[in-house]
Amino acid sequence: MAAAWPYVNGSLHLGHVAGLLPADIIARYHRQHGDDVLFVSGSDCHGTPILNTAEKEGVSPQVIAERYHQEAVDMLINRLGFSYSLYTKTMGDFHKSVAQTLFQEIYDNDCMVAKEEDQFFCAYCNRFLPDRFIEGTCPNCGATGARGDQCDSCSKLHDAKDLLQPTCKICNNTPVLRRSKHLYFRLPLFQDRLDAWMLTVADGWRENAITTTRSALLDQGLKDRPVTRDLSWGIPVPVEGFREKCIYVWFEAVMGYFSCSREYSVLQNTPEAWRDWWENDQAIHYYVHGKDNIPFHTIIWPAMLMALNLHLPDKIISSEYLNFEGLKFSKSKGIAIWLPEALAKFDPEAIRFYLTLNGPETKDVSFRWNDFRERVNADLIGTLGNFWQRTFAMITQNFDAIPSLQDYPADNHGTTLLQKAATTFEIVSQAIEQGNLRTALSEVLDLAKAGNIYLNQREPWKMAKTNRNHAGISLAVCAAIGDALRRLVAPFIPQPIERLNSYLGTTDLTWRFAPYHLGGKQIIPPSVLIRKIEKETIKEEIDKMQRADSD
Ligand SMILES: [Zn+2]
Ligand SMILES: [Zn+2]
Repeated sequence: MAAAWPYVNGSLHLGHVAGLLPADIIARYHRQHGDDVLFVSGSDCHGTPILNTAEKEGVSPQVIAERYHQEAVDMLINRLGFSYSLYTKTMGDFHKSVAQTLFQEIYDNDCMVAKEEDQFFCAYCNRFLPDRFIEGTCPNCGATGARGDQCDSCSKLHDAKDLLQPTCKICNNTPVLRRSKHLYFRLPLFQDRLDAWMLTVADGWRENAITTTRSALLDQGLKDRPVTRDLSWGIPVPVEGFREKCIYVWFEAVMGYFSCSREYSVLQNTPEAWRDWWENDQAIHYYVHGKDNIPFHTIIWPAMLMALNLHLPDKIISSEYLNFEGLKFSKSKGIAIWLPEALAKFDPEAIRFYLTLNGPETKDVSFRWNDFRERVNADLIGTLGNFWQRTFAMITQNFDAIPSLQDYPADNHGTTLLQKAATTFEIVSQAIEQGNLRTALSEVLDLAKAGNIYLNQREPWKMAKTNRNHAGISLAVCAAIGDALRRLVAPFIPQPIERLNSYLGTTDLTWRFAPYHLGGKQIIPPSVLIRKIEKETIKEEIDKMQRADSD
């Protein structure tokens, strides 16, 4: 499981989380399923934006990167519960050394060429301009505000020289072209193999990944791409004659998936274990990221992997963008919901639940505070949480232990419901493995709804006084459904499931329909599993967003 590396130039916002969350859900699902999961990621620490922030604050770039790396660790792992096998950082020594080795290997395999080419130089700033410091009009779609290497509007990669009306982002002057010698990655060498490979794997890719990659491969054709930069903050190029330059930040950041796997193996005292994932045809590699990262994961990194003879990506789970109250994310205008602020007010399960149910899977979607509150209170708590709460509270009030289906065989309606639960495991499995997490979570909610209907019809709270057998059957069925829901929803919202498990005295979350698992267990009546969201809390957030929009 390869989740994109957050760029640690500032706090993460909920748009980042929406793009990364599928990785944790799918990784958790596969673990429950009994698969051997290696889940790698880390902080992307190099490149010009961090250098720029450091210059502004008058500190070293390490200070900036370390500050937001620590924050990312705290937010993603400690708060949101992302279950990485290892979360590292590209400025760590281990990654540096692996990246330099891989760079050298790709160079030694004749996949790089030195070229002296024109590069943008700003005479006012007296420096070569890295891609992120040039802005202009996209040569492919004509959108303004395209960066030196990529356009946000059409996601296509381009050469900085092809930008129309280029300007220096630091001083707004027009830069000039100057000769500079760099190493280029010979992407055209891989054009045919990439074409053929894409045809075999694309059914595991999101539609946006297929479209972007096809158009880059077929319509545009691949060109040599410079992979060294005139920059001081990064990993030094290991090749003679280029040692004063740094490796292009994207080129070394994607190597992180591999270096992190190696580092994890070393830390586990099984230094060769990485081969089980990277030199194994049976392994399935998922790549999870936002749509602006697509070409790096479907063209550049696969070409590098071909040059290195390592396992190619299998599934590309690339999200669309998350807007905020219908507005496009803008750091400068304050149109964003920052993760540290969101987690200071709301529980991680609420954020995970809403960002999945309303995830930007196939189109841009908006995070709307009222909808957030509605979905959490009505669906997460009203439909799902209350089903467990009611079922297990009634059991502790009326029985010494959970009635088992052996003692209380299901009625007809109950049998149908149990069959639905068994089928739900298959449907949800398939949806998760395809990266269709909205569908997967909706199916789980659907089962909870059916459970509530059954419970309301059977009225065990009344029947317990007059017909104990009737109530026993109802609650045995509901306990089995409650158990199924617990396993099915655990990848999405692990935090309340941990609490529920402690009340039920179980830790088994194996991905299977197990209707007899809870029968006979003595349990503690569960107290509040998931907290409601109050109207006032939401109102403050809406006001904040409206102020930002009108400024
Ligand atoms: Zn464009
Ligand atoms: Zn300038």
